Amino acid sequence: MGIATDSIHAGQQPDPTTGAIMTPIYQTSTYVQEELGVHKGYEYARTHNLTRAAWEQCVAKLEGATTGIAFGSGLAAIGTLIQALEPGDHVVSSNDMYGGTYRLYERVYRRYGIEFEYVDTSDLDAVRAAIRPTTRLLYVETPSNPLMKVSDLAALAEMARARGIALAVDNTFLTPFFQRPLELGAHLVVHSVTKYLNGHSDMVGGMLLTSEPAWIEKLRFLQNAAGAVPGPMDCWLALRGVKTLAVRMPRHEANAMLVAQHLVRHPRVERVLYPGLPEHPAHALSTRQTSGFGGMVSFLLRDLEEARQVAGRTRLFALAESLGGVESLLCHPASMTHASVPRAERERMGFTDGLLRLSVGIEDVEDLLQDLDHALAV
Ligand SMILES: *Cc1c(COP(=O)(O)O)cnc(C)c1O
Repeated sequence: MGIATDSIHAGQQPDPTTGAIMTPIYQTSTYVQEELGVHKGYEYARTHNLTRAAWEQCVAKLEGATTGIAFGSGLAAIGTLIQALEPGDHVVSSNDMYGGTYRLYERVYRRYGIEFEYVDTSDLDAVRAAIRPTTRLLYVETPSNPLMKVSDLAALAEMARARGIALAVDNTFLTPFFQRPLELGAHLVVHSVTKYLNGHSDMVGGMLLTSEPAWIEKLRFLQNAAGAVPGPMDCWLALRGVKTLAVRMPRHEANAMLVAQHLVRHPRVERVLYPGLPEHPAHALSTRQTSGFGGMVSFLLRDLEEARQVAGRTRLFALAESLGGVESLLCHPASMTHASVPRAERERMGFTDGLLRLSVGIEDVEDLLQDLDHALAV
């Protein structure tokens, strides 16, 4: 089946009791047992919930994984992935990534003896040089956040597999609609469901996807044993949201491309970072590796003062963290999503206080361009 069909139907059958076409919200914490040791396979809702199971199977199908394991947030998913490691294990991670992931690694899991090292994963030599005998996980965000760098997933997968290292890819920005990391050789996919998969900015969730039996066993155990599970209502919202993935994503992309092209021509904009632009350093790699460039566009203004002015003057682009909803958002990474990344680290990564990031929504693009022109007018 195609991805539009799967995003509507995968993991979902009419309810056997009533024929309800939509998966019911199994809003229960426990299940009645007939007698000691006799039950229908459901004992307690941290372990089993049918709304959650339908949601997991749906995204697994979209990513081409055998198994999806759902969590209460993207960070809960990433944290559970790290819980599968041992003290002393070494993780090589993209240096340009979601600020909360950096905070989770540095402020939480480093205390448990896991070592994290950050490199520009779009530079294969840098990744190779960072690998140690204790490296167990290569953690990559592509396109990266907020600098929109692109990492070569097939090459990284080959490098990881040759050394017995797992490659995990945060696929939040592009979704399986545009990018399938498992098909390129990755072992694991990470999602903040909060963003494009749900697509409507009305819930928080996360998911890990894999077809590797050893990872499935560890992660299923941890999902139940550590318990960072999503509630059934949120799984149901995400099931509803993902049904339109295949109509939302092309529209996000078409709007983002026009916004990027428009910004390139604007005299106040110093640089536009969008892999869909031919001048992007990884445009050719992106064209090969993904079927689209997504809806996220970053651009550089001269300094903090200009960024503050523009951020204060948009009417449609709402100043807010998060991304991937139908509505357009604007964010100032240095003070918002990446405030937890120390300034020195941010500067090493190459992003300045003049950087703004857009999550381009699916409104009428003329309205979006007009909004940006108004905000950028001196
Ligand atoms: C938002 C985000 C996360 C964290 O997900 P939450 O659902 O907010 O916990 C991780 N990675 C990326 C790329 C994100 O945008």
